[in-house]
Amino acid sequence: MNYYSTNNPTSKVDFKEATIRGQAPDRGLYFPEQVPVIGDAFFENIEEYSNEEIAFKVIKPYVGSVIQANDLMKLVTETINFPMPLVKVKEGIYALELFHGPTLAFKDVGARFMSRCLAYFTKDRNEKVIVLVATSGDTGGAVANGFYDVPGVDVVILYPSGKVSSVQEKQLTTLGKNIHALEVSGTFDDCQQLVKQAFMDAELNKTLFLTSANSINVARWLPQQFYYFLAWKQWHDKDHPPVICVPSGNFGNICAGMLAHRSGLPVQHFIAACNANDTIPEYMVSGNYQSKKAIATLSNAMDVGDPSNFIRILELFDHQFGELKNKLSSYSISDEETKLTIEEVNRANHYLLDPHGAVGYKALQEYMYSHPGQQGIFLETAHPVKFYDVVEPVINAKVPLPLGMQEIMKKTKVSMKMGVGYEELRSYLLRR
Ligand SMILES: *Cc1c(COP(=O)(O)O)cnc(C)c1O
Repeated sequence: MNYYSTNNPTSKVDFKEATIRGQAPDRGLYFPEQVPVIGDAFFENIEEYSNEEIAFKVIKPYVGSVIQANDLMKLVTETINFPMPLVKVKEGIYALELFHGPTLAFKDVGARFMSRCLAYFTKDRNEKVIVLVATSGDTGGAVANGFYDVPGVDVVILYPSGKVSSVQEKQLTTLGKNIHALEVSGTFDDCQQLVKQAFMDAELNKTLFLTSANSINVARWLPQQFYYFLAWKQWHDKDHPPVICVPSGNFGNICAGMLAHRSGLPVQHFIAACNANDTIPEYMVSGNYQSKKAIATLSNAMDVGDPSNFIRILELFDHQFGELKNKLSSYSISDEETKLTIEEVNRANHYLLDPHGAVGYKALQEYMYSHPGQQGIFLETAHPVKFYDVVEPVINAKVPLPLGMQEIMKKTKVSMKMGVGYEELRSYLLRR
């Protein structure tokens, strides 16, 4: 399989090249040349396949021959080594729980797959690969965990001091080994700016092999298809495919689902659930794309005003707005509605949502009001404990920490403090 740049269809690379580069040199996003078609028989008999067999079948055509089949099987198995259950919340509404991985968010799937691909592709190099990443909280943890103890790879994470939750900070700063946390006395934007400067520093890139763990990387994007297939495997009513609602920020996750559907996965309709950052809900009404400045909300992993993966959805639909509208709806849910939803679902259905899942639940419910007779799945993208500061006051109770997290919270934070000046980061990287 080859990938072209969304900025230039004639510039093509294979999966290995696309993974190592992350973004195309012309700043476009890599997109697969064809979408593989999976036959109906597979979907009818999906329950007979193991999760690993399903994931392997999905990803194999995208990877092509750049990873040997037995190695790819191992890689896929390590990627999905935690449960992703479909849980009934109430009549007609199901949660696909994607938070049972090591950092309690769905990003574990993409991060684990990408880290292992990168290690595979660079294992014969003498120099170390340095993965440089800025995080506002969730991404850093998943990336750090995905790369933990991966040979030949060093990870340097920049996070804004005092601006990530205590659970998130522990996930970034307590791993040790090849994971290094830089605590920047600034904002997330400062961190991102520093990382950008490092990538643009031609001198530095001559001496060091720097790469990013950005969410637009194909090796992070494509494996997110796995759990849409696993949801179908668990779906009880194969004669009536579900509506699928995805809490969305950068739109990588929902785009993976739509790609899976294009391969043949039965899905009735997709819903992109957004918070107050309503660039796409507005686009789906007007057909006119207008990026906005991000607004801070309770579901902060979705605070994106110019979602970078949306171009891939447009590409999938050949930029035909009418066809896209037939398959995708989008809703904007306020913080007030988010809190009310967490409270109500906890009280009436004894199911505890995190703020991102709550946005998903509410958007699904709105769609179902206007389209009666459907059944739906929303993706529960994070464990509520990651956002206990939001959730606990709403339900007036404590959210217990899962066992693995209790261990992490006891560990000592190790970080290096740093200012916002680029020279400091540069000399740190050169010292490594
Ligand atoms: C990153 C994230 C999202 C948004 O996913 P996108 O692929 O960027 O749309 C939603 N929920 C949580 C918990 C996240 O961490």
